[in-house]
Formats: sequence, C-alpha cells, structure tokens
Amino acid sequence: MKKLWRCHVCNDIHFGNKPPEVCPTCGAKHAFVPSDLNEAMEIIGKDQQPIDTPAAMISAWKEFAEQSPTVRLTDRQDEIDLLSGGVIDNLSSKGQRYCPCRITTGDRIKDLSLICPCNFTRQQTYKEQGDCWCSLFIKRDKQ
Ligand code: SF4
Repeated sequence: MKKLWRCHVCNDIHFGNKPPEVCPTCGAKHAFVPSDLNEAMEIIGKDQQPIDTPAAMISAWKEFAEQSPTVRLTDRQDEIDLLSGGVIDNLSSKGQRYCPCRITTGDRIKDLSLICPCNFTRQQTYKEQGDCWCSLFIKRDKQ
C-alpha cells in the first residue's frame, strides 16, 4: 500500500509503496523513513517567507534553480509568468501551490507530489527530454 516517506537528510517527501533507494533531491542512500500527512504539511509550510504571489513564486524558483548543479529555470519569461500565475491560482482555489500543468486528484496525500517544484527529476519527461512536465526547469546540460 502506498504511503508517505521522508528523506531524513533533506526532507524530500515521497509517496509510494516503498521509498527510493537514492534520494532524487540530495542523493543520500537509504535515507527515507516513514512519514505522515501532518509531518509532510509541516515541512511544506516551513517557508521563511510566504509564497503567495507570482513574484514570490518566481523568486523561490530562481533560488531553487541557482542552488542546483543540474537544473536551471527556463529563459522564457512569458512561460515563467504564466506558470507562476497558475500555481498561485491553485493556491487560492485548491489550498496548495499545485503544478499548473497537472490535474489534482483531491486526495491531499497523493497530491503532495504535485506541489511545485515537484520531484520532476523522477519524471519520464525529464529523463527523456531534460525538462520538467511544464518545461519550467531544464537540465543544465541540455543541448
Ligand atoms: S512539473 Fe515543473 S511546473 Fe509542474 S510542479 Fe513540477 S517543477 Fe513545477
């Protein structure tokens, strides 16, 4: 049965039958421990600044990409503006900063994996094309 797991090194949250052997966010091996919805929501709410406007979302994305050795933010400002608006619309209407390109299920545990930025490095799209599902984050070495 699927459940929540948390990387005890970087707090990456995973939903599945079993945790990944290697954390897709920090690379730690065998670091996942069982978690639950309360703990996951507490981790997600640990933002220093509230991210509740498109400008704050863009700033958080930039920070996320700048510290990443493997991904960068797209150069397309029109897409960044559109996607940040979509994420903040989802925050207003659905209560979380869900991905603007994917459909939520209504199950809060399952939908944790749709909070932006998601664990897109696990997605087939990223593995095959080097982009997250919405082409917001792109592999740095993509040609
Ligand atoms: S696919 Fe891209 S835009 Fe969508 S949640 Fe993941 S990182 Fe954010």
